[in-house]
Parts: sequence; structure tokens; C-alpha cells
Amino acid sequence: MIMRLPGIYEERLSRFRDGETEINIFLIPGNHGERSLMIDAGFKDRRCLAQMERALSCLDITYDKLDVFVTHKHHDHSGLASEYAELGARILMNPEENRHHYDCLYYNNDKNPEEEQYQVLRSVGVTPEKTPEIWEMFMEIRRRVKENKGWEFEVTGFPFLPVRQGQRLRYGNYEFEVVPLKGHTYGQMGLYEARQHILFSADQVIDGIVPIVGTTFPDEHLLAGYLASLNQFLHVYKSCMLLPAHNEPIWDVKRVVNRILYAYNEKIELMRQILYHSRREMTVRQVGCIAYGMGEIPADTKEFVKLKMVMSKTFSCLEYLRDRDLVIRSERDGTFYWQSAEL
Ligand SMILES: [Zn+2]
Repeated sequence: MIMRLPGIYEERLSRFRDGETEINIFLIPGNHGERSLMIDAGFKDRRCLAQMERALSCLDITYDKLDVFVTHKHHDHSGLASEYAELGARILMNPEENRHHYDCLYYNNDKNPEEEQYQVLRSVGVTPEKTPEIWEMFMEIRRRVKENKGWEFEVTGFPFLPVRQGQRLRYGNYEFEVVPLKGHTYGQMGLYEARQHILFSADQVIDGIVPIVGTTFPDEHLLAGYLASLNQFLHVYKSCMLLPAHNEPIWDVKRVVNRILYAYNEKIELMRQILYHSRREMTVRQVGCIAYGMGEIPADTKEFVKLKMVMSKTFSCLEYLRDRDLVIRSERDGTFYWQSAEL
């Protein structure tokens, strides 16, 4: 555990499955008997829980005085939330994170997402008739989750207190405002300390990565929301120290944000070109495989996970192009087909 700022501690959790993944969990102990804060819960993993318990006891934090602020409902951020809740902690999250039960990236086993999964897969062009091999890979995950065999991106439910934009939270010597970080997910939230110029930025801005704008639902304008949020980073949060959930803290906000903006603009333009030059209608999966240089059928689990991410990013970019009248979307049998509007 390291101290990032006075009274702000960081514990880095890692987990090995298909490659190593890491997350930074932040802890802010409360003053004299007041409540303490944990930002994000970490992977659902016994070793990770043991590591966090050591960190909590080091800082004399007990569960009955602990609030866990879950920035968004992804497996690495919310995995241990149900355990912490059972041990007596209070979980805080934006209820909008329960908006969907299935989004192509994550399988939320909280509810029964079967119907939603069929619908989402069909919409991006994955069907038992046209892409049986890929369809079967998704069904295999469903079986694993149902039989309780576990799956890396599985998300379980937990009780939580709803937090809203603008709400103020005090822990230690810090006073935070709950701020929206729309884009990576629909309802992702961060914590902003205006006086001290600190922002817990979750997965919105990460150094060395282009974060996924992970939507597979039509008309949610998530990429437009993400780009607007990045613009806010260039203005409101430009002189902040960002404490992201992955990789290192960020001081030069402008450099990191501009790199992400550049990467998205490049992909959007590439997809516009793909549809323009192909002169036919294509599904999200087809555009994504070309844009990201992927084969038709994933060769292994790693490729399969990449395809899921690619389809989410591609959906976001195509929606963005459609909002600008550059592509047309039509729907047949639950599948969206995209074509250039410039022909
Ligand atoms: Zn995430």
C-alpha cells in the first residue's frame, strides 16, 4: 500500500486469468470514529479480499464504518461489493449502472439477462444462423455462469445506496462532489475535490490505454457523451491530479486526453471510410473486424474477449456517425445494418 496524497492510500490488486489485469483501490480513513471510504471494490477473488483486509486493518478501518463507492458496475470495480456489503460495509453507486443486464462486454448475473443477451447479440450481427461458432462461444459463457463455474467478466448483484450527481461526501480531510463520467459506461461516476484539485477518474481517462466506450444499445449516444466528458477534462479538470483505477496517476491531463481524442477520431474516420468504400450494408461485427484487423472467428479466449470489446467500441463509433448523418442504420430481424449515407 502506498500513500498517494496525505490521507489517500492506494492498494493495487492484480488477477491472472487470460493475462494479467490490475486495478487501483483507494482508501481514505475517516477522522476520529467517522466513516472511511474505499473507492471501487476490486475483483471477486479470495486473494484480493485477503489483501484488502490487510490494508483495512493497517489503517484501522472496520466494516461498520466503511463506505465503498463503486464508480461503475464492471467486474474489476464491483466484484467484491457483495462481500463487503455482507461484512457490514455500505455500498454507494449510481442506480443508472443497473440500466441494462447485458451489454456484450459484461454478463450481469444479478437478474436473468437471457432475453437481453439474445437481443444484444442479434443487434450486433451475432446469430445462431449466420455466425454459429461465435454464437456458441457466447452460449458457453452463459452456461459457465449458470453452473456457477465463474467467468472473468461476470458481474454479481449487491445492495447499494444510490448516489447522484452533485451529492457531497466527506471523508478524512476531503470533501468530494459526485460527478458524472459518462462514456465508459452509462452511469459511471467519479469523485471531485475542487479545493485540492483531485479527481478520482475511474476508467474515463487512463494513461497508455484508450478506454472502451462500451455500449451495445441504440440511441444512448454514449460516445458523444464520452467526448463531451473529455472536453470537460480539458477545461474543468485540466489542472487536477487524476487518480485513475488503472495505471499511474495523471498530472498532465491535456496530453493524455488529447491522445485518447485522437485515437477515437481516427477510428471514427476509419469506420466512415470502411462503409463508404464497401458500398454495402454491414453489421457492427463486420465493421469492427475490419477496423480492428480481426479474423472472422476468434481463435482463442483472448481473441474472443477482444471481439467483445471491438463490437462495443464499433457500436459506439457507428452510433456517433449516425448522429452526424454520415451513416444510415436499418434493422431487420433484430440485426442492425449500417451503410454510408454519403453514396
Ligand atoms: Zn471498467
